[in-house]
Amino acid sequence: MSRSPFDLTGRTALITGGNKGLGRAMARGMAEAGADVFLASRNEDELKSSLEYVLDGTGRKGGYALVDVADRASVKRLAKTATESMGKIDILVNNAGMNQPQAIDQITDEVWDRILEVNLSSCMALTRELAPGMKARGWGRVIHISSIMGQVSKEKRNAYSATKTALHGLARASALDLGPSGVTVNCIAPGPFMTDMPMTLLSDAEKKAFSDRTALDRWGQPNELVGPVVFLASEAAAYVTGTVLYVDGGYTAR
Ligand code: NAP
Repeated sequence: MSRSPFDLTGRTALITGGNKGLGRAMARGMAEAGADVFLASRNEDELKSSLEYVLDGTGRKGGYALVDVADRASVKRLAKTATESMGKIDILVNNAGMNQPQAIDQITDEVWDRILEVNLSSCMALTRELAPGMKARGWGRVIHISSIMGQVSKEKRNAYSATKTALHGLARASALDLGPSGVTVNCIAPGPFMTDMPMTLLSDAEKKAFSDRTALDRWGQPNELVGPVVFLASEAAAYVTGTVLYVDGGYTAR
């Protein structure tokens, strides 16, 4: 029987922020598609239980490590630990992210710098660490989780939007650097998805405004990101690089 182009058997994926929300859903989906998975965030209890959920019944291998992606040394250690523990990392999903809304005339240097480090610079740093191994093997996938806020925006999303737009530029540039070695780099730009991040930040009126603007008239569920991430991670997307896949229920169509 021929192998499905979406089969990830034999691949190993590192997912930052894999302990909850979109990261956990994508990790589970990739394990179901055949990948071994390594999760990383700052919360060991959540990582442990997430890894059990992600691997349950899949027969896949996995691991986890603590990381603060705002700390370059910690990111570097993560790349080394994940590679040593799994043998190689073929697929990097830069998913860890944060949002702390502040208006442009009130934003503090501390918040600006932290959001840039967590949402943007960490993605560069982890890609820089793992790209050499992917290049050496002639195959790799880098997937940055950006946002519709990289295309449109909302009040007080200055740092958040700036970082998510920048991920689109980063993906384009590094796709050109890594393409000749068989490594693709893309972004997934989610629309409104039911996770802790928007649920804790938004008022009920803002939540309704998000679903009202989508074509599908609803919020997304985290498992609706599985198809897109498995696609970009797989052979099916071998000729897809330097681009942004919007998974937003039609939010940016309006
Ligand atoms: P979430 O449930 O709040 O998850 C955020 C993840 O990022 C957690 O796993 C968190 O882990 C991790 N993280 C944050 N700061 C970190 C740090 N300094 N070091 C290591 N890990 C860190 O939110 P989510 O919705 O799943 O977000 C995942 C990604 O999707 C983010 O990049 C977000 O911007 C993007 N996104 C989400 C939506 C949405 O509607 N939900 C829409 C567009 C884009 P710990 O805090 O436990 O360390």
